[in-house]
Amino acid sequence: MTETGRRPSHPIELERRGLLFVLSSPSGAGKSTIARMLLEADGQIEMSVSATTRPMRPGETDGADYHFVDVPRFKEMVAAGDFLEWAHVFDHRYGTPRAPVEALLAAGRDVLFDIDWQGAQQLYQQAGGDVVRVFILPPSVDELERRLRTRGTDDAQVVAARMARAASEISHWDGYDYVLVNDDVERCFAQVRLILRAERLKRSRQIGLIGFTRKLMSPPAM
Ligand code: ADP
Ligand code: 5GP
Repeated sequence: MTETGRRPSHPIELERRGLLFVLSSPSGAGKSTIARMLLEADGQIEMSVSATTRPMRPGETDGADYHFVDVPRFKEMVAAGDFLEWAHVFDHRYGTPRAPVEALLAAGRDVLFDIDWQGAQQLYQQAGGDVVRVFILPPSVDELERRLRTRGTDDAQVVAARMARAASEISHWDGYDYVLVNDDVERCFAQVRLILRAERLKRSRQIGLIGFTRKLMSPPAM
């Protein structure tokens, strides 16, 4: 309401802290698909683009999907403290560049991470309450394999390696705040959006609340 008792034409938006929104899953369960849908639908969140030493897949773009670097360059970045977290996954190195994430958070934006459980754990150790961790499960092992095969980005050997690792990745489900089953992609996406909306509303993130409530409680000027 305004001082004249009318509703303002814009809803009141209180200043809030940006959050680090992590999506993890066994490879092929659908986290990149959900991440893409979220980035398209939500203007307040941006993707953290990881660096990796793995070869580029057909259809991937350097700088957009990953920063593709060689092992010596990756090691240099580790030594320089350029990563917020990094880990070995499937015989390759993957890491989250620190500077872009810090810049986005400082601007009050949210950051989306497609990283594994090791990365989620490290981010949580560093940023604790600002991190929201979501784990995505496939509806079944057979369906996971079908998705990996039909994605068509990896040869049979790579698919087999990813399937062999799936159980060990799934075993980390209890290190997450939310666990979803991606059976129907639209349903799973809707659940992810609900989580993000609710997490943004948490009192601890609404830094504008202190000033706002103070104003509400102060006596009216005579
Ligand atoms: P991840 O990023 O977890 O490795 P992707 O997002 O690449 O997995 O998904 C793997 C494959 O499964 C892709 O071809 C994608 O289109 C498909 N996919 C994702 N979610 C579903 C779903 N709910 N039902 C059927 N296919 C799906
Ligand atoms: P892919 O090779 O399929 O793109 O990714 C393989 C795995 O590495 C996925 O589980 C993905 O979430 C994870 N990953 C991608 N980037 C990073 C990162 O920067 N850090 C960590 N810890 N894992 C990552």
